[in-house]
Amino acid sequence: MLIVMKSSATAHETDAVVDIIETIGLRPHPMPGATRTAIGITGNEGPVDGQRFENLPGVAEVIRVTKPYKLITLDLRPDKTIVRVGDATIGGSELAIIAGPCAIESRVQAFAVAEAVQRSGARFFRGGVWKPRTSPYTFQGLGDKAWEIMREIRDAFGLKIVTEAVDESHVDLIEKHGDVIQIGARNMQNFSLLKRAGRSKLPVLLKRGMAATLEEWLLAAEYIMAEGNYNVILCERGVRTFAQHTRNTLDLAAVPAIRRISHLPVIVDPSHGTGTAYMVTPLARAGIAVGADGLMIEVHNRPELALSDSAQALTPAEYAQLIEEVHAIRSTMAPMQKQVVSTN
Ligand code: PEP
Ligand code: MN
Repeated sequence: MLIVMKSSATAHETDAVVDIIETIGLRPHPMPGATRTAIGITGNEGPVDGQRFENLPGVAEVIRVTKPYKLITLDLRPDKTIVRVGDATIGGSELAIIAGPCAIESRVQAFAVAEAVQRSGARFFRGGVWKPRTSPYTFQGLGDKAWEIMREIRDAFGLKIVTEAVDESHVDLIEKHGDVIQIGARNMQNFSLLKRAGRSKLPVLLKRGMAATLEEWLLAAEYIMAEGNYNVILCERGVRTFAQHTRNTLDLAAVPAIRRISHLPVIVDPSHGTGTAYMVTPLARAGIAVGADGLMIEVHNRPELALSDSAQALTPAEYAQLIEEVHAIRSTMAPMQKQVVSTN
């Protein structure tokens, strides 16, 4: 159920509704919007009796939610969410670029790439501290040593640090030293990890599982939001199909499909989405053209020496060219729709 407050409702009236929801043992999720506040309700397994709310002061409408979504939906928040990470944003008018190596391998490598990322004007640096690898015998990430390097990069370049939490204990460390928690494709339905990220104050970048439907992906975002963290960024990174010319099939139609359902920002990762460097720039251009709020791009100072995802890494020069092109594409597009700032 969803309670829509009148545009004239006072904070006091909204608080009174929130109190009642809590008193009956449910969880309120007030979402202020440009014109009105709506309050989502979670914690109920069956239908909630909406009548008790209908005549409360400030309530405009009580809507029974028949879709599987309660919090990601435009019904709750008709304006796009802008996720703020310090002074950077994802989902606003600024194109969000998250770039860096697949994994932090050494100080020299990470600094060389971070320098290129900063020079491009990007605000976010990505790099695996822990790597979820298919084989236990391949490079698993530097762990603590990578954190030391990440901390230096954050200080030296002022970039926001995005890294993947492979398990729940990693979330604690990202909260200490990082800016955005990435949940990887392999963990998209790791529900305890999603809930832990949902209890964090940091934004969560949720990658699509490699065989996930749109509904499964959005319900994974619901797990995070139901815990009270509304700063979720969706990342399309390709799904597995019969195609053999790419590592994954980048599902660009997911971007407009999500736009029709959800207020959450969506970015595209053409690096994992194709698995091969020569396709990254064409698909990055397409991702922006289709309306993504940003891109995740893997860059390496020496791609041929990368310890993971070597074939898909761009050189700093290729990356710089990509950034120029996607900005050019973005500048020809119509201004984004009305937006509001996430309140979390
Ligand atoms: C990554 O971003 O390095 C990564 C492992 O991505 P995915 O979870 O999309 O495979
Ligand atoms: Mn990678």
